[in-house]
Amino acid sequence: MKAAVVRSFTEPLAIEDVAIPVPGYGQVVVKIETSGLCHTDIHAAHGDWPVKPNPPFIPGHEGVGLVDRIGEGVKHLKEGDRVAIPWLGSACGFCEYCVSGWETLCLQQQNTGYSVNGSYAEYALAEAGYIGKVPNGVDPLDAAPLTCAGVTTYKAVKVSGARASDLVAIYGIGGLGHLALQYASITGASVAAVDLVESKLTLAKSLGAEYTFNSTTCDPAVEIQRLGGADVAIVLAVSPKAAESAFKSLRRGGRLVFVALPKDNFVQLPIFETVLQGISVIGSIVGTRRDLSETFQLHAEGRTKVIRQTRKLEEVNSSFEQIESGKVDARLVFDMR
Ligand code: NAD
Ligand code: ZN
Ligand code: ZN
Repeated sequence: MKAAVVRSFTEPLAIEDVAIPVPGYGQVVVKIETSGLCHTDIHAAHGDWPVKPNPPFIPGHEGVGLVDRIGEGVKHLKEGDRVAIPWLGSACGFCEYCVSGWETLCLQQQNTGYSVNGSYAEYALAEAGYIGKVPNGVDPLDAAPLTCAGVTTYKAVKVSGARASDLVAIYGIGGLGHLALQYASITGASVAAVDLVESKLTLAKSLGAEYTFNSTTCDPAVEIQRLGGADVAIVLAVSPKAAESAFKSLRRGGRLVFVALPKDNFVQLPIFETVLQGISVIGSIVGTRRDLSETFQLHAEGRTKVIRQTRKLEEVNSSFEQIESGKVDARLVFDMR
């Protein structure tokens, strides 16, 4: 099968002919139809984070396709089911996190396209217990971005506690941000969108953001304070500077939610203001299987819109460059059909 392979952190990805995986006990092999390009795949290919993957590996954790082969012991899936393979490839199933609906915090977890091979390929191996079922009527080109960008920001909005009377600041209107602002709007909150690229702010407006601020032409924190300050600020921009601005945009009692994972791993936050203003700082990592099914359900009901462009897998390296330079609105999806 054809796959895009990371050979080293300093070389472009290589398109290679790789053996089709064989499902073991509890596993399935999925014939990939679509696979979204998450900025995490770029971090993975560059070895940006403190915990690194081991090349060679196949990235991709927004894989959507049809169950092709079923391993022993898999009872709840059949051939031809449309499924989604998310970042949480598997977890132990019995630790305190797994049994309390926080499998995303399991210490034994495997991550798709990072610690195990992912979906930048014609076929992908997956643990049957950790894949999502894609409801009928959800386009596979939409399902792919929902499998990480969707579920991650759906969860981030959930943990932020945003509600109808709130102002929610969304920093970074990329693949994640364009969905985050829609989930924030669904709570009834007002949304202020922040980015460096004007076309992304135009997109944010069209998706329901009440306010947009371009950090190259104004200080978004000052502007958001003029509105009374944000109750919640969610950081999806790959930049510690954006995180610091998001902190400054908050009103008293506000919640700062970190989601983006820039290579430059540290921010400076003032202790005094955090304490006296009663600010909460929250980290949010993807979402659970339950969150993923809720994300798909909202989309099947027509309540979210996925903005995406398609690419061929062979275009993976130019696609990475286009995302890094901010040239693409929202998500790129590799169409493998
Ligand atoms: P993306 O490249 O599609 O979007 C990033 C956006 O941030 C772009 O629109 C860019 O123009 C904007 N931006 C960059 N610098 C900015 C600044 N200083 N101020 C305002 N906006 C700025 O990336 P993505 O796929 O949406 O991913 C975003 C980040 O989230 C990545 O670091 C990714 O690894 C991370 N991520 C985290 C989780 C999680 O579970 N915590 C899940 C998925 C992705
Ligand atoms: Zn992702
Ligand atoms: Zn566990």
